[in-house]
Amino acid sequence: MLFNTIKNTTSSISVIAICFVSLAILYFSIQEHEKLYFESVKGDLDALSENMSSDLVPMLAVQPDEFELATILLRLDPYDNVKYAFIYDDKWHPLQSYHGKALTQVKSKSYAQYEGVKTKLPGVYVDNDELVALKLVGDELFPLGYLRIVLDSSGPLNKSKQSLLKQVLPITLVLLIVVFAFLLWVQARLFFPLSRLSRIAQKIQKTHDYSLKINIKGKQEVTSLSTDLNFMMETINQETQKNKKYTNKLMEQQKAMERLANFDGLTGLPNRQFFMETLRLQLSKAKRENQNLVLMYFDLDGFKGVNDSFGHEVGDLVLLEVCNRCKSILREGDLISRLGGDEFLILLHNDPNELELLQLSERLVSGLNKPFHIRSWEVQIGVSIGIAQAQDSHFNVCEFFSNADFAMYRSKMAGRSRHTVFVPEMMEENKRRLLIANSIANAIKEDEFDIHYQGKVNSDAVVVGYEALIRWKSDTLGTISPAEFIPIAEQSGKILSITKWVIEKVCQELEQVLALHDNTIVVSLNLSAFDIKNIALVDYIKDTFTRYKVETSNIEFEVTESAYLDNFELANQFISQLREMGCSIALDDFGAGYSSLGYLTQIELNTLKIDKQFVDNLNVSVRSTLITKTIIEMAKQLNLKICAEGVETREQANFLISNGCHQLQGYFFSKPASLKTLLAN
Ligand code: C2E
Ligand code: CA
Ligand code: CA
Repeated sequence: MLFNTIKNTTSSISVIAICFVSLAILYFSIQEHEKLYFESVKGDLDALSENMSSDLVPMLAVQPDEFELATILLRLDPYDNVKYAFIYDDKWHPLQSYHGKALTQVKSKSYAQYEGVKTKLPGVYVDNDELVALKLVGDELFPLGYLRIVLDSSGPLNKSKQSLLKQVLPITLVLLIVVFAFLLWVQARLFFPLSRLSRIAQKIQKTHDYSLKINIKGKQEVTSLSTDLNFMMETINQETQKNKKYTNKLMEQQKAMERLANFDGLTGLPNRQFFMETLRLQLSKAKRENQNLVLMYFDLDGFKGVNDSFGHEVGDLVLLEVCNRCKSILREGDLISRLGGDEFLILLHNDPNELELLQLSERLVSGLNKPFHIRSWEVQIGVSIGIAQAQDSHFNVCEFFSNADFAMYRSKMAGRSRHTVFVPEMMEENKRRLLIANSIANAIKEDEFDIHYQGKVNSDAVVVGYEALIRWKSDTLGTISPAEFIPIAEQSGKILSITKWVIEKVCQELEQVLALHDNTIVVSLNLSAFDIKNIALVDYIKDTFTRYKVETSNIEFEVTESAYLDNFELANQFISQLREMGCSIALDDFGAGYSSLGYLTQIELNTLKIDKQFVDNLNVSVRSTLITKTIIEMAKQLNLKICAEGVETREQANFLISNGCHQLQGYFFSKPASLKTLLAN
């Protein structure tokens, strides 16, 4: 405490030094006083005893008279510090004694001391707090006697010292206080600028305001210190300003980088990385708390077609609008992210129940199914949704993600614009799908495929054509329906080899099929939506037809609506070329999935094939009946031929014929059969 500041240290040292010096002075004064005191008392005693001894000479020269001797000794009466006195004869026999005021106790030893005194030389000396004067009466050669006076030296000396202290101490104390006060005042004055500096430093520390100016007057050191400090502060201030600028710039850059790293540039939605990171965290949290999480994976249907037909700018605007629509449909807390392209992910908040999930999915599907009005264009797309639950994927992020992806793929396969919830059984199917996909190439090599032909009849039940349908009898997997392996081939990129195989095979067998009937008949081939995107296939078809000398008027190609959906322009180009070759075109499965009547006028068709589901429901559902009637009516207006597929009963056939359907196809008339069987009948 005392020495922790310069001020305290210097004050303490000064006070200690002053006290020490004062005490030293006091000590030496007392010493000096004692010396002087002794000297004066000794002098007085010497004079007095000298006087008394010379007065004793005449008395001791004769027979001494006790009374006279006593009178001499009584001269000591006025002196308070006389203890006792003795007058001895020349043989040291005491002749007379005197007891003074200072003698408090008669000590026999003191009296007896004269024995020892005999050996002492006359003079004045100090002996055990006593001042002793020993005088020779008479001459050294003829001593007459001795005079011994003993004074108390300590008592009076102490008294004298006390009285000295009494006089000196108050003055000393007052002086000390004055000196201390003066010292403190000087120090305070000297240190005042320093404490001001310290206060300013504290203020700067608190406010971080380095622009504060220090203006302190004081001794030269303080002034130069404050100038130096000002200089230093200015430098700090400049550096701080610079730093602030850099920091701001850095922070902006960091924010921009974070945005780039975590958010999609177009829609501003969290990107894949951010989403997957969040998903990972949420999954481990859900696992800990034993809760479920729901992930939605969605992919826009026909978006590529939008980009190809309207350009990327319109495509981008569609994506923005998709993002806005989704946001308005989703609940607060649902996290939507753009994975890239036309794929989005949604992490649903609060584990919604089945009904909520259904409602949300339906709202998304119908919300995105509504036309988008962008720059005077009306753009139509759809959405296929896959939904997965964390518990089904054992809270594994990769499994969770791929389950949702798989369910989405199922939605696409099931005809788009729908949602599919992943169930673990799907994984088993997936294994089979992989097996099928991997067996296709070998199946072609091993000639496991075959073509069956299903007849199409006119209203008079006369065969007017055949639809070529592929069949697969696998050595390892058994008989596999095209309804199963065609979509797998499409997804795994193996459809082209199948299509080529079918074209080749039909061309090979065409002559024999045609020969079955007298009238001109048409053989229909199915093309996958994936085939239509591959314009090079047209050349293959041309080549094969040339090789087999195929009359193109005997060939019809069946394509589905979905072929147009993805890329209208490309599909139309493909179809136009087939038409130019002389082949006819049928739109397959009409009314089944996604239907936009709008483009019917824009594509060059010959036939509309009404999907089996409407035929199935004829006379069962009023709505289906009405739709079928309308489709037939509309096709007539558009100058299209109508073929109804999946006709299984006479009633269906009658209804369709009476409503003006041109062609009928179905088990009621004939089941698909191999050429061998057909030839055999
Ligand atoms: P699709 O083009 O709609 O062919 C009609 C399907 O309905 C055929 O099934 C046919 O056997 C079946 N069918 C015809 N009439 C009836 C009926 O009265 N009742 C019932 N229940 N079914 C009937 P399939 O042969 O199993 O073919 C399924 C689908 O596989 C075809 O549907 C077609 O999309 C595709 N497919 C078949 N062969 C080929 C092919 O060579 N290439 C391509 N790309 N797809 C093919
Ligand atoms: Ca077909
Ligand atoms: Ca069909």
